[in-house]
Amino acid sequence: MPVQHTFCRICEAACGLAVEFDNEGSLVTVSPNESHVASKGYACLKGLKAQDFRDSPDRITEPMKRVDGKLVAISWEQALSEIGTQLKQLKASEGGDAIGMYMGNPISMSFLPPVLSHAFIKSFDSHKLYHTGSQDCNNKFVVAERMYGSAQIQPFPDVDNSQFIIAIGSNPVISKMSFISLPHSSKRFKALVARGGRVVWLNPRKTETAKQVGEHFFIRPDTDVFFMLGFLHELIVQQGVDEGRVESQMLGWITIKQAVKDWSPERVEQVTHIAANTLREWVTQYIAADGASIYSSTGVNQGSHGSLAFWLQEVINAVSGNLDKRGGTLVGTGIFDVSKFNRFDPAKPLQKFRLGDIPLVMDTVPAGC
Ligand code: SF4
Repeated sequence: MPVQHTFCRICEAACGLAVEFDNEGSLVTVSPNESHVASKGYACLKGLKAQDFRDSPDRITEPMKRVDGKLVAISWEQALSEIGTQLKQLKASEGGDAIGMYMGNPISMSFLPPVLSHAFIKSFDSHKLYHTGSQDCNNKFVVAERMYGSAQIQPFPDVDNSQFIIAIGSNPVISKMSFISLPHSSKRFKALVARGGRVVWLNPRKTETAKQVGEHFFIRPDTDVFFMLGFLHELIVQQGVDEGRVESQMLGWITIKQAVKDWSPERVEQVTHIAANTLREWVTQYIAADGASIYSSTGVNQGSHGSLAFWLQEVINAVSGNLDKRGGTLVGTGIFDVSKFNRFDPAKPLQKFRLGDIPLVMDTVPAGC
């Protein structure tokens, strides 16, 4: 039977799929593409059930217009013409900001839709492009802009070569690790442990991942930023800072040292409920490891101090010499360097949403606005 190779468009992982058709051209099965260079035969249920989306009786395949309270199908020509006319009128009478657009997850992970969405909204002189990032990861974009010069520069743990990973608020078996898209995550972490490495899951909940591999430690919800402060404090105490790298590649170290000086593991323990000696032991092992990292995800991103916590995490990985190091954290450039299109200019005044004085992130408005 003919097989067509494609990829799943639902999330950022873009898993490779093999779609089998019968001789009449009807879809028979969707399976993971074993030879896909990135996903290596992995795909989750959502991608593997793609035909159910396609064949669902609820699927909308043509534009629908509400007429006298009822939805009726209309042609694409009619839909585009009527919507275009109304948008033009709206801009003329109310100004461009009366027009908003929401960019959901699957199209955000695609290539052209984000580019065209920005262009579409700018063509009306509107600032109202809303984006899913504000639900669970804008903190990472904000920090990356200021630390690395672009929201698109997101270091990720080199899981296959690491000796020690502390992962906070993350559940890779279920999510596949956002911003990394790690196929077969359980297998990869088990391999890390099998070669003598260590993985610690810090989470207020014993996750599906923690039940399969590594060590799980509870942390009091929303106290991750204090854990990071304590970790950095102890990294300095145990002389785990790569002074040469800090001197040659980083700015602001004196300020950071000052900021963490009062956050001893004992003080942090009172807030996080992670024993001071446990934290100390992790820092010792983190320093001794030839390639280690702290990684955090949704549980931290959605916390009250998501940006601060993530910033501290990146500081720890950087000043310890683990940034851009085999087994530490790496930065992929992809087929082409997207960050070049998206440089952060600190001199440019931040655009803000008119209510609440809320700054935009990557020219997008938080969806909650
Ligand atoms: S992880 Fe699942 S939803 Fe995401 S791209 Fe892969 S198959 Fe699709």
